[in-house]
Amino acid sequence: MSDLRSLYQEIILDHNKNPRNFGVLDDANRVIEGYNPLCGDRYTIYLKLEDDVIQEIKFSGVGCAISKASASVMTTVLKGKTVPEAEAWFEKFHALVTHPSGEDADGASLGKLAAFAGVSEFPARVKCATLAWHSLKGALRSSATSVSTE
Ligand code: ZN
Repeated sequence: MSDLRSLYQEIILDHNKNPRNFGVLDDANRVIEGYNPLCGDRYTIYLKLEDDVIQEIKFSGVGCAISKASASVMTTVLKGKTVPEAEAWFEKFHALVTHPSGEDADGASLGKLAAFAGVSEFPARVKCATLAWHSLKGALRSSATSVSTE
């Protein structure tokens, strides 16, 4: 288990240091800002949605390691997914970080997202880990242009 934990820590550190899909997406057709006032995490999520498929996804902004790594992993997971698939991933990730039993979840199907299972032990960090996801959900529903964890 300790090997697994250090692997998970490595994933988070790596994505924090070298965030994937980081930057402005010029031809985005959905843009949403997310803010977590408890920690000061603030990100913008850019989506290019076509025929209900996430063709492109990028993010920009600043925040703590957990929030940035979570946004980065999220973009790698969701690129190319349909809207219903993305919403299913949201539910999976949300369950993982909010239920203490989340660690028993099917780690294999979660891939790198499983790295965030430990967050459920730190309620204050759950909002960091889910900020990008809540923003994404708002963007998929199109009406919102900003979300806050408060
Ligand atoms: Zn944070």
